[in-house]
Amino acid sequence: MSRKLTGPVVIATHNPGKLAEMRDLLAPFGIAAQSAGELGLGEPRETGKTFAANARIKALAAANATGKAAFADDSGLVVEALGGDPGIHSARWAGSDKDFCFAMNNIQTLLIERGARTPEQRRAHFVAALCLAWPDGHLEEFEGRIDGAAVWPPRGDRGFGYDPLFKPDGFDRTFGQMSADEKHGLPLKGQGLSHRARAFLKLADACLRGA
Ligand code: IMP
Repeated sequence: MSRKLTGPVVIATHNPGKLAEMRDLLAPFGIAAQSAGELGLGEPRETGKTFAANARIKALAAANATGKAAFADDSGLVVEALGGDPGIHSARWAGSDKDFCFAMNNIQTLLIERGARTPEQRRAHFVAALCLAWPDGHLEEFEGRIDGAAVWPPRGDRGFGYDPLFKPDGFDRTFGQMSADEKHGLPLKGQGLSHRARAFLKLADACLRGA
């Protein structure tokens, strides 16, 4: 039996793009949320080797620092022809300037070096691992994934990070060309398309509905 989230939650992220999406996802459930940045919390070192391990590190650090339940996401873009890179290092590939044009160019250069030109050769997926942690150490963990391809050139100026590079299967537009509701809106606003929305729907079923 999963533990229900009944009170306010700390969103353990300093990434404004993720924070906006996580706030959108929590809003319909009436859960008040403050971010780690707003609370002046530091950023723990992400030393895990998986998305789930890093989400756990961030959620537990925020829960321990605040004495409140905390919600963390660790996510990234996995490019199959690059052996899964940038994967858990997706943020790092953009450098300290958080320059995602540079990171997307880097992916394109490596794909061309490997002769990856067709959509089949450029398969990619986003993964999101979500962790809800309580100060007593209790954890609830969920994962979501969306499959697609890395397009070139990047398209669209919406969203954040690698959104303009990623075209989900079944769509002819990238995440960078989609509205927020289309990318991550939950039914009835959207179809819960993104990796984060898919993980969140599992979390909502387990920890939010009927709380
Ligand atoms: P981290 O989870 O804080 O290590 O950072 C994950 C990084 O993956 C982000 O900085 C983005 O670059 C990328 N990322 C994760 N989710 C998305 C998304 O929905 N769109 C675009 N980029 C994303």
